[in-house]
This record gives sequence, C-alpha cells and structure tokens, in this order.
Amino acid sequence: MKTVGALLWEPGTNSGWSVEEIEIDPPKRREVTVQLAASGICHSDDHLDTGDIPLPWAPILGGHEGAGVVTEVGPEVTDLQEGDHVVMSFLPSCGKCRMCVAGRSNMCELGAGVLAGFAPDGTHRIHARGKGVGPMSYLGTFAPYATVPVDAVVKIDPEIPLMPASLIGCGVPTGWGSSVYAAEIQLGDTVVIFGTGGVGMNAVQGAAHRGAKNIVTVDPVAFKREKAKEFGATHPVASFEEAAQLIERMTNGQGADRVIITVDVARGDIVEQANQLTRRGGVIVLTAAAPVMQRDVQFDLFSFAMSGKRLQGSLYGTTNSKNDIPLIADMYKNGQFKLDELITKTYRLEDINEAFADLREGRNIRGVIVYDH
Ligand SMILES: [Zn+2]
Ligand SMILES: [Zn+2]
Repeated sequence: MKTVGALLWEPGTNSGWSVEEIEIDPPKRREVTVQLAASGICHSDDHLDTGDIPLPWAPILGGHEGAGVVTEVGPEVTDLQEGDHVVMSFLPSCGKCRMCVAGRSNMCELGAGVLAGFAPDGTHRIHARGKGVGPMSYLGTFAPYATVPVDAVVKIDPEIPLMPASLIGCGVPTGWGSSVYAAEIQLGDTVVIFGTGGVGMNAVQGAAHRGAKNIVTVDPVAFKREKAKEFGATHPVASFEEAAQLIERMTNGQGADRVIITVDVARGDIVEQANQLTRRGGVIVLTAAAPVMQRDVQFDLFSFAMSGKRLQGSLYGTTNSKNDIPLIADMYKNGQFKLDELITKTYRLEDINEAFADLREGRNIRGVIVYDH
C-alpha cells in the first residue's frame, strides 16, 4: 500500500527526517500489518540522526515503539488475528531460542538483526524512490502502517487506549525494569536515579513500586525535577554534588543501595560518580546508551573490587516483553501505572522534526506522534 513515512537518507549527518511517500508490502510468513494509532519519539532514533548509533546503510524508516490494530495477517500466523490490539516492541522475542526459553527474552537471538536494515528474512517490506528501505528495529513506526514480524508485536487488552500504550514498547519497560529487575530494588532501599526523562521517569516509578524508601533523582532540568515527584521521587536534585551531600546524610555515610543511570547520553565520568554514591555491596545499573565508539571510562577499580559492588548493564530493563508489556498495560488499566503523565506533547508525523528538536532541548518527558485514520 502507498502511505507516508519519516526517513533518514543520510544517517549521522543531523539531516533531520524526510516525510515522504513510501510503499509498504503485505505481510509474508510470520508477519502482520498493523495500523498504528501512535508512535513514541525516542532518543534511539535521534542517535541515528546524530551518528551516536552509526548506521552503515540507508535509507531507514525510523520509529521503534508504537501501538495499533492488526489489519492483515500473513501465512503461519497462529497467535494473532485481524482486529487484535498490539504494542510494537523495539526488541523481538521469538520464544524459542535459548535466551527466550531461559526467561531472558531481551537477549533474544532475533535482536541481533534489529539494525540490519531488513525484515528477518533478509528482504525489504518498505520501498521509497525505487529503493528498499530498512526499518528501525524491524518496525518503522514513523508511518501510519507497518508490516512487521509477529515476534515483534505483543497483544494487549483492547480496552487499553492505544496512544499511551504506544510507549510500552521501549522507554517505559526499559526504565521500569531497570529498577524492578536489573537493580532488584528491595523494600526500604535508598536509590539514586541519574536522568529523569522518558526512561528515567519509569525507573522512578519502578523504584516506587518496589518500595524504595528514598528515591533521589538527579536532573538539571527544573520541570523534570518537578515532574519526578509525581512518579514517586522523594528528593529531586539538580546535580551530582547535591545528590552526594544528600546520600551522605541519609545513609550516615554508607552510600545508596542502588544507583541507576538513565541519562540521555552516557559519558564515561558518570560511572565513577555512580560508583562514589553506591554503598559497599551495592548495585549500579547502566541503562543509558553511550555513543557507540566511546571507550573512555575513568574508574576507581581498586575500591570497586574491594567493596564488592556490582556494575550491571541493562537492555530493555532486563524485561521479558511478552510478559511485561501486557503486565504494564494491565497495571495502567488498574490505575497502578502512570503513562498519561509521561506524555508532554503530541505531534503529527509532518511535524516530526519539531518533535526531535523538543527532545534535544529537554522540553518533553515524552513526545508522541498520533496518526489519524
Ligand atoms: Zn526507544
Ligand atoms: Zn528468542
């Protein structure tokens, strides 16, 4: 079908997104076509434009989190049917590989191909100007329709509104799971969270769900500090220095139990800052994406080892999409999970470059593209 999509023809050059006509193929084996209601605007797509995530091919149709309704199913699709409401997950889960069956589907083997530029079978479903277009994360949610692998969509309760549900395919579980699963926050813990944007705000929410006693958030943007209180932050501060003083006082000099890094772009110095705030035996979780080529980390290795701390990387909040996406959706329906409060502004697809400008300026917790059908 003919539709429109937001493409990058020269990734890594800060060119911005070109909204233009694209052609989307019908679903092939184990694929579905989804009519999208909304797509999140996330940093990972911006990293493609800035080059923090280098992409050796082009063009790419951006967008890796969305929600919509299945309009067509391909051959051998037994788990979904037309009319099902789905969240599109930025990492797929095949349910069969070793990591999937071990309950670690964020490490699914299919994930290796999310930036390869093709559907999983190595061909294109999207075309523009006579060329094959690669999708971001097998999805390409910067278009009102997408033909995607069935393993990259997760069915949710049809009563849940699709606009807020569009955020459950990337940033929400990434932040929430960083607290709940990766950091394994315990009741009564003192927690520090660096960065309270679209990911970090959900880490705050997860810390509150786990019963943390003190949730110290660090963010230089005043409105994000204010907003963090809504999600459960007990002590929002602007700088590392303020956080260090607070933690010193709160814990009698022992340090925080858990420190979670969810800043927009991770630089080397933040790991040592997190280390300094963490108590002996405590856990540091690194969730934020760093520039792919970054190697410089200054780190006090001696005291890190001697104090028995753990530095834990976390992809997708260490969640299992087929379990955690419906769980978060259901908790939202029950009034136990904040999604609407994350959305600062909605945009039309044509205004996508304005949406990314707002993201770069830190004006939004989350921006969302809404599609009219
Ligand atoms: Zn994302
Ligand atoms: Zn798998």
